Amino acid sequence: MINIILFGPPGSGKGTQAALLVERYGLEHVSTGDLFRKEIGNGSFLGKQAQQYISRGELVPDEVTIGMLRQKVETHPEAEGFIFDGFPRTVAQAEALDRLLAEEGTAVHLLLSLEVDDEEIVKRIKGRAVVSGRPDDADEGVIRHRIAVYKKETAPVFEYYEQRGKSHRVNGIGSIEEIFRRLCALIDHTLPTGSVSP
Ligand code: AMP
Repeated sequence: MINIILFGPPGSGKGTQAALLVERYGLEHVSTGDLFRKEIGNGSFLGKQAQQYISRGELVPDEVTIGMLRQKVETHPEAEGFIFDGFPRTVAQAEALDRLLAEEGTAVHLLLSLEVDDEEIVKRIKGRAVVSGRPDDADEGVIRHRIAVYKKETAPVFEYYEQRGKSHRVNGIGSIEEIFRRLCALIDHTLPTGSVSP
C-alpha cells in the first residue's frame, strides 16, 4: 500500500492535484472537506455539526473528523493506498492516522506540501467561489481566517512528518501540468520502484 498526504493551505490546489494523482497511481482519494460537504448535503447530524465550523472557517473537532476518516478508510479494504487531501489538519489527527494505518499494517509514506503565498491563495479562492458555490469561499474574512487556522493548527503537521523523514515542499505556483509533474517526480523518486503503479 502507498499512502500519500497532499498538504498545503486552502486554495493551494490539493483537490485538483489529488484527482490527477489518483488517476495516475490508482489510489483512493480521501478528502475530508468533500466528505463533510456530502454529509451537509444529506442533512445528516454529522453534517449539521460540521457546518457550523466550516461556515466560520474553523476546523471541525478532531473526534468528529477522525471518526469519519476511520470509517472511510475501513470501507476500502481493497484500496492499493490512499491520497489524503485536507487530512490530517492537526497533530492529533496525524497521530490518529498513524495508529489507524498501523492497524491496517501500513503507514504514511510521503507528505507533499504545496507552497503558495497568502495573497495568491485569497485571489484563487475568491476566483473559484463562483464555480465552487462554497459559502466559505465567498467571504474574504473567512478565507483569511482559514489561512490563519492553517498556520497555527495545521502547519505543525508538516514538522511532525518532517521529523519522520517524510515531508517535502513543492512549489505550488505554475500551471496544473507543471505542478503535477513536480509531484510525480517526487513520488517516483522517493518511493521504491514497483511500489506504485503509474
Ligand atoms: P477543504 O475542502 O479541505 O478546504 O475543507 C473545508 C472545511 O472543512 C475546512 O475549512 C474545515 O472547516 C473542514 N475540514 C475539512 N477537513 C478537515 C479536517 N481534517 N479537520 C478539521 N476540519 C476539516
